[in-house]
Amino acid sequence: MTLEQDHESRYSRAQSESNSFQDELRAAIDQGEPQTELLVLLELTRSRSQASKWASGITGPNLWDHSFTDEDIRSIRDELHEALMSRQRQQPQSNSDLDDLLDFDELLDLAGGERLSPVYHDLAKKEMGVQPDTVNWTGAPPEIAKDLRVGIIGAGPSGITSAIRMKHLDLDFTIFDSAEDFGGTWLHNTYPGCGVDIASHYFSFSYDQKSDWSRYYAKQPEILDYLQGVAERAKLHANARFGTEVVAARFDESAHQWELTVHSKGGEVSTERVDILITAVGLLSSPKIPDFPGLAKFQGKYFHAAQWDHTVDYKNKRVALVGTGASANQIGPTIAPDVDELVVIQRSAQWNVAVENYMKEVSDGEKWLLANIPEYQRWFRTRTMLSQNDSLRPAAEVDPEWSSSDGSISAENARLWTELTQYIKDELGDRQDLLPIALPDYPPFTKRMLRDNGWYRMMRRDNVDVVPGREVQFTSDGIVDANGKEHKVDIVVFATGFEASRALGSLQIEGRTGRTIRDVWGEDDPRAHLGITVPGFPNMFVMYGPNTNIGTGGSIILQAETWTRYAAEAIVKMVEANAVEIECKPEAMDEYNRAMDARLAEMIWAVSSGSTWYRNSAGRVVSNMPWSTPEYWNLTRQVKQEDYTLRFSNEDRSGNEAQKYRPSGKDAELEIEAKSL
Ligand code: NAP
Repeated sequence: MTLEQDHESRYSRAQSESNSFQDELRAAIDQGEPQTELLVLLELTRSRSQASKWASGITGPNLWDHSFTDEDIRSIRDELHEALMSRQRQQPQSNSDLDDLLDFDELLDLAGGERLSPVYHDLAKKEMGVQPDTVNWTGAPPEIAKDLRVGIIGAGPSGITSAIRMKHLDLDFTIFDSAEDFGGTWLHNTYPGCGVDIASHYFSFSYDQKSDWSRYYAKQPEILDYLQGVAERAKLHANARFGTEVVAARFDESAHQWELTVHSKGGEVSTERVDILITAVGLLSSPKIPDFPGLAKFQGKYFHAAQWDHTVDYKNKRVALVGTGASANQIGPTIAPDVDELVVIQRSAQWNVAVENYMKEVSDGEKWLLANIPEYQRWFRTRTMLSQNDSLRPAAEVDPEWSSSDGSISAENARLWTELTQYIKDELGDRQDLLPIALPDYPPFTKRMLRDNGWYRMMRRDNVDVVPGREVQFTSDGIVDANGKEHKVDIVVFATGFEASRALGSLQIEGRTGRTIRDVWGEDDPRAHLGITVPGFPNMFVMYGPNTNIGTGGSIILQAETWTRYAAEAIVKMVEANAVEIECKPEAMDEYNRAMDARLAEMIWAVSSGSTWYRNSAGRVVSNMPWSTPEYWNLTRQVKQEDYTLRFSNEDRSGNEAQKYRPSGKDAELEIEAKSL
C-alpha cells in the first residue's frame, strides 16, 4: 500500500467511524434526559445566551422537573448534537459570549433548579469525580508509615473503600471477613427481589463510577458484581483474609497496638497485631429472628431473609412472610406469583413511595450517553444525587408551631400523609376493603420510607393474605394469627430486621484501661464523635457508626467514602506528627453529641412513637443522623486538631530508639501543640 492509499484508507475508516458515532449519538440523544442534555451542552459551550434561553426550564433535580416544550427539547438536542460532533471533529466550540462564560458552580445551581451552598458545590464536584477528595501525605510518606499495619474488619462497601484509602496511602493493611468474598451486605442478602432503593447512578463510588447499570434501581447481583469489580480493580484480594472472623480486639497500651483474636473457618484461633483498627462490620449485619412462641415446634423450613436458603424451593408452596419492612416489601411481591399461598404477618403497615423508573431498565440510548459522553455521566449522577439527597426532608422535620390530632408533625408531613394515602387507595383499586390493613396509623417517616415494589398489587392477589396483629404463635405446621386463625404453611421467611442498635455487637472490643465498648455503650446506647471515633479507643475508626445512617434520602456509599476519608486523614495526621496514638477527646465527643441531640429533637424519629430500628430500647435514636448529606459531609471534612489527643512513644514499632521520631524521646501522653498538626 502506498502512503497515499494508507492515508486514504485511514481517512475513510475515520470517516465511517465518525458517521457511525454521529448516528449512534443522534439516536441516543433522543432517549436522554433533556435536563441533563442541556447541562452537557452548557458545560461544553458555557454559553450564557443558551442558558438564558432554556435553563429556567430545569425546575428541579427529578426526571419530571422541567417545563420544556417539545420544541425546546428538539432545539436543545440539535445544539447538543452539533456541539458534540464539533468536539468529535476537534473543532473549537462556537460561543459568541466568550467574555462572560458560565462557571461550573453556576452549572451546578442550574442542575438542581436552585442555588446550592458552596459546600454542596464541593460535594457535587467530589461526586462527579472532577474534584476527588483523596487523602494524601503532605510530602513523601514518613518512614514510620512503613511499619504501620491497619486491620479492617469487614469486606463490604465500607471495608472496600477503607482498604482503597489505605492502599492509596501505601499502608500495609489486612481485610478480615468471615465470608469468602467482597460484598458484605450485598453478598449475604440474596433474597428474591433484593435490590437497592437508592438510584443506581448515585450508588457507586465517586472514584469508580459505573455508567452501565442495567436498571435505574439495580438488583443485588449487579450491585454485588460492581462491588467485587471495585475490589478487583483496586487489587485488594492480596490483602484480604476471607473465612476469618475477628471476634475480639484489645488495645495493648504498652505497644500502642490492637491485638485481634481471629477465628478461621477451620477452627484455628490466632492473634494478629495491628496499629490501626477500622471496623467496617455494617449496621445491619446481625439478622434478628424474634422469639415467637412455638417456633421450636414448627416442622417446616424457616430462615431469615438475609440468610435465604436457596435449597428450599418456594414455588407452589405455602409460605409465610413475617414482617413488612424493606426486605419483606421486595420479597412479597416477587414471590407472590410463584407460591401457592402467601400469608404476610403484619405488625405494622408501612408507608410506600412510588418512584418513577424504579422498575425500569435503562434505555439503550441513555446507556450509550452514559458510557460515551463523560459529561452526560457526570451531570446525570449529579442530578440523581440532588434528587435523592434529603429529597423529602421537610416532611421529616418537626414544626414546633404545628398542631394536629392525627400525629402529623408539620404541614409538609400532613401533605405527604394525604398524598401517600391517596396512592394506597389508587393502588388497591377495587379492593378498598383492604384499606384498613394497608393504611399505616402513624405519620410518614416514623420508620424508613419504602419504595413501592408492588405491595398493594400483591395484597390484591387471590393467593395473598396480609394478616395484621401482634400476637402470633407457631404450631408444628403453621401459624396462628392474632385473631386465632391458623394458617398452614410449609416455609416461613423472617424479614424481621437486624440487631441495629447493638452497634459492633459481633465484636468484643477492649480499649484503654480495660474498658470495653459495652462498658461504654451499654447494650444499645452507642455514641461516637461524628459517629466515627470513641474516647478510650485510640486508633480505632468505626464505619457506619452511631447516628450515621441517612434517614431522609441519600447514598450510604457516599457515607462510606466520608467515614473512610475522615479515618484516613486522622491516620495521616497521627503519622505525620510522629505519634503512635490518636484518640478522640471526651469533650469533643460530648460537644458533638449535644449538638446532634439538639438537631435530632427536631426530627420525626425522636418524637413519633412507632416501632423502628432507628431507636434503642430506651427510645433514643441511635442509628440515624439528623444532618442532611452535605451537612454531615462538611462536618467530617476535616479532622480538627483540637478534637484529638496524640501520644508519642520512645520506641518505634520495631523497638528502635525513637529519637528519629521525636527529639525529646519522651514516653508520655502529650497533647500535641495545635500548630504541629
Ligand atoms: P425492618 O425494616 O426493620 O422490618 C422488620 C419487619 O419485621 C417490620 O415490619 C417489623 O414490624 C417486623 N417485626 C419485627 N419484629 C417483629 C415481631 N416480633 N413480630 C412481628 N413483626 C415483627 O427490617 P428489614 O426489612 O430487614 O430492613 C432493615 C433495613 O435494611 C431497611 O430499613 C433498610 O435500611 C435496609 N434494607 C434496604 C433495602 C433496600 O434498599 N431496598 C432492602 C432491604 C433492607 P414493625 O414495622 O411493626 O416494627
